[in-house]
Amino acid sequence: MTSSALPLSAEVANEPTHPADFAGPIIEGDEVRRKTQGRVVSALIRISFFCGTVVVCQLPLLGSESHSPIICREQLSVARREMLVDRLRTITGFEVTFDENGGLRVTSAAGRGGSQTARNLIATALNGKKVIVLEDASDRQDVVFSRVVSAEWKHHASNMPPAFVVLIDFADFDHLLGDREALKAFDVGWAFLHELEHVVNESADTQEANQPGECEDHINLMRNECGLPLRADYFYTFVPYAQRGTFRTRFVRLAFEQKNATTNKGRRYWVMWDATLVGGLAPEIAAK
Ligand SMILES: [Zn+2]
Repeated sequence: MTSSALPLSAEVANEPTHPADFAGPIIEGDEVRRKTQGRVVSALIRISFFCGTVVVCQLPLLGSESHSPIICREQLSVARREMLVDRLRTITGFEVTFDENGGLRVTSAAGRGGSQTARNLIATALNGKKVIVLEDASDRQDVVFSRVVSAEWKHHASNMPPAFVVLIDFADFDHLLGDREALKAFDVGWAFLHELEHVVNESADTQEANQPGECEDHINLMRNECGLPLRADYFYTFVPYAQRGTFRTRFVRLAFEQKNATTNKGRRYWVMWDATLVGGLAPEIAAK
């Protein structure tokens, strides 16, 4: 079967809403929102991992060990597939590709550089039972870089493996600015691995400021193995004094840190973006 005929359909069953008392949205699903509503988290904005539900149906690709459990929806363009595997090659050192069915494949496991922890994560996912569907969510305001949603099978649900849809907003990455070292540590490959870590190891994101959280701790192991700065904070924050001038921009930033092995001194790097372009701002914040 060709990738253009991937027999998948998915629809978002419930979209996140934005609690009025947050500076930014919590898009991690109803349970997290219930826990955090009523607490004012000024200028803290969370990225990704929404525990909603989508419906997937008709996946005859599954049930055969010859098919990859990580598959693209057909609407994910060849150029963007190539962009993703290019980043994954750099991070993992694996030779990875998408096959004609849209399945992610490791064609050479002779890792050249890169992160062993990332290789382990990819290998565990590819050898596991969970189905992970990649969907292009570019230019969606409710997807800030990426997120993962759990899925339900429309038919024969009791016989089917657990399924998840990883939504990637490729266009958001075009809006990134900042330090070169930090930009290498925050691209579409890292976003995919973050969501994969959620699915494979069920790692959680933190709800506290000034810490990366369980999931990003694991991703930081990979960054360290690649010689890149580590993400210092799960939340991004507004850039001081630059929230908006004459133009309707809302710049936010995310911190990364790297220690100099010789001096043991830490250096901070930033990635920044205009949240009015990338999305994620609660409507009442964006309108101010
Ligand atoms: Zn997450």
